[in-house]
Amino acid sequence: MSLYDILEEQEQSHRILKLRSPVNLEPIGTLTCANQHDVSHAVKKARKAQKDWAKLSFSQRAVYIQKALQILLDRQEEIVDTVVKETGKARTDAYNLEIFAAGDSLHYYSRKTAKILKPVKKRIHGMLGLIKQLRIVYKPLGVCGIIVPWNGPFILAINPAIQAMMAGNSVVIKSSEVTPFSTGLVEDIFREAGVPEGVCQVVQGDGQTGAYLCEAGVDKISFTGSIATGRRVAESCARQLIPCTLELGGNDAMIVCEDADLDRAASGAVIGACMNTGHFCCGTERIYVHKDVYETFLDKVKIRVKQLKQGPEHGADEDVGAVFWDRQMTIIEDHVNDAVINGAHVVCGARRNPELEGLYYEPTVLTDVRHDMKIMKEETFGPILCLQKVDSVEEAITLANDSPYGLNGNVWTKDKKKGFEIAQRIETGSMCINDMAVTYGAPEAPFGGVKSSGIGQVNGEVGLKGYCHAMPIITDRFGGKEMQSGYPYTAEKVDGLKKVMNFLWRNPIGRLFS
Ligand code: NAD
Repeated sequence: MSLYDILEEQEQSHRILKLRSPVNLEPIGTLTCANQHDVSHAVKKARKAQKDWAKLSFSQRAVYIQKALQILLDRQEEIVDTVVKETGKARTDAYNLEIFAAGDSLHYYSRKTAKILKPVKKRIHGMLGLIKQLRIVYKPLGVCGIIVPWNGPFILAINPAIQAMMAGNSVVIKSSEVTPFSTGLVEDIFREAGVPEGVCQVVQGDGQTGAYLCEAGVDKISFTGSIATGRRVAESCARQLIPCTLELGGNDAMIVCEDADLDRAASGAVIGACMNTGHFCCGTERIYVHKDVYETFLDKVKIRVKQLKQGPEHGADEDVGAVFWDRQMTIIEDHVNDAVINGAHVVCGARRNPELEGLYYEPTVLTDVRHDMKIMKEETFGPILCLQKVDSVEEAITLANDSPYGLNGNVWTKDKKKGFEIAQRIETGSMCINDMAVTYGAPEAPFGGVKSSGIGQVNGEVGLKGYCHAMPIITDRFGGKEMQSGYPYTAEKVDGLKKVMNFLWRNPIGRLFS
């Protein structure tokens, strides 16, 4: 059964979708997709509101963001209830990934933006630096479009919005068609915090609404989602010559060395693969284990996976929630079936949970997987642990790098230096040693993929600066009394230039000035 049906198609792509909860497949509401006119109207409103918003100081904007943090804390139960009903994720996943992460982001950017984006003076090298002074100011881009996927419908909307808004932009956020209500709460919270009308708006709809947003005259698109859609967004932005960041899919590798703490590594593998029902862009999808510790590691993983609780109540002690979307269930089942047909061994799971009526897939452990199977080549995005035995760490590195993706990854060893060396050799966006993906939660770490996993990096300094134009302003050092370059051109001036070059780059004393 599909999680949404098109109820009616009104004039001008004003589609209305009826949504169901993955928890029990019961209806949870309808969604009217914004059409081109609605999106264009929102962008115009955002453009108008941005002018005054940009005039505020960082500390004035921070007051609103701090207020939003208090509202987040007050309304956390309501947000979690909405997220859980709409996505089916485990309640604790909702608290960790949506509420805590959002709180941390509100707190961090309200306190740090002024320091990160304050105008900077930089020394110009060489002779020019003797007479000229450089300042760089960070100007907001204007209106930023934020396109959100369904796996983190609250955090993946609010986190980029906070950064763009703190930098002085207004935002128009496009929610996923599967999870519009959770994303809608972002606008609600900022409105309650007193953020002026038009600075943060959510437009709801499907892919067509997203395409309209890309073409609606925004100044940047911040996209999180699949590779296929990312390409379309990039094409659209390229046509309009506007920047975009693309945070796309992953197929992260985990390397377990022979000297790893196997208890920690086994726990890391299970949460790395099953957290958020495996719908985590930095989820652990491929696990390469050194042959000397393979059997022990597998036993430890097996014990832990069999203890995982899955249930429809969504209490705080249920570990693995529902699959968020029937479309993803089809991919998970296809990948697992392909692996099994081609020789993978099922240690546990590999089926829908027969005791639950919603979209629940049992946490699954597969061994004897190979790189010619879909499950190792493509993003599965489900609660699946795929274990492959390797003869050496070298083999593990080669296999980890044998992927068109490169978002995150992790390596497990008690030897810090060795872990650091292995991490640097992985062709991926970021790595963790002895932990699963914590990178997105550390704003000090620029986050983003390489290869097909994305373009550009987000969060922290690089993220904030990505919502700005770094504008260099060069001025006279001594108030306009300096010699000015220019006409008339003369042979003497060319001679003078030659002498300067000889002095700067041939003369040992001159090199001190170059
Ligand atoms: P998706 O690409 O199907 O949809 C993402 C968003 O794009 C949705 O809001 C959708 O309506 C919209 N969209 C669809 N077509 C569009 C178009 N032509 N123009 C503009 N917008 C359009 O992705 P999804 O299935 O919602 O999300 C899952 C994917 O997101 C996974 O691959 C996952 O790995 C990835 N993801 C990446 C990160 C990261 O930070 N790298 C984080 C979370 C999720």
